[in-house]
Amino acid sequence: MTMRLVLLGPPGAGKGTQAARIAERIGVPAISTGDIFRVNVAERTELGRTAQRYMDAGEYVPDEVTNAMVADRLSQDDARPGFLLDGYPRTEPQVRELDSMLEAQDASLDAVVELTVEVDEIVSRLLGRAQEQGRTDDTEPVIRRRLEVYHEQTAPLVGIYAGRGLLVQVDGMGEIDEVTDRLQAALAEVGA
Ligand code: AMP
Repeated sequence: MTMRLVLLGPPGAGKGTQAARIAERIGVPAISTGDIFRVNVAERTELGRTAQRYMDAGEYVPDEVTNAMVADRLSQDDARPGFLLDGYPRTEPQVRELDSMLEAQDASLDAVVELTVEVDEIVSRLLGRAQEQGRTDDTEPVIRRRLEVYHEQTAPLVGIYAGRGLLVQVDGMGEIDEVTDRLQAALAEVGA
């Protein structure tokens, strides 16, 4: 069975945690663009040096850089039968680029899951994560900028995928296990 999923949601919605859990249960790789960027930053690659400036400011890494990285990742063997994309696409040009990557493989998305959360909850979660994980983009001004960028550039994707009949909305508030159960139930409805 193939399953190609996108997980959407604002910073702090719990995408990374849930993506890893859900991908394991479905048996597809979780592909997080944020994680790939962070690995490159840690390894001081050229991609990492480019990405870091944007990440530290709470801005998106330019589409052409991000798209090339995702195209490369999706062409690897383990992603052929399916994947769960966490943090991509995030802009309308990225949506179009993903469309053409999938078309080239004669494939299409099965569902786009939006994790919904309240903004106050997000800020406190992110500030908590800053202390636990020491992420350099989890400071208050950068968090605020990341939320703004999300609303400007990524929130419109919800409408685009809803228009295609692909959107599944899941309440991301509450305990991690509860949210995983909700996600699993919602995905079972679309055959995952
Ligand atoms: P995340 O771990 O998903 O919160 O991503 C951390 C940061 O990586 C974001 O704030 C962006 O700077 C960058 N990033 C991750 N995914 C993308 C994307 N699809 N497009 C542009 N920038 C991204």
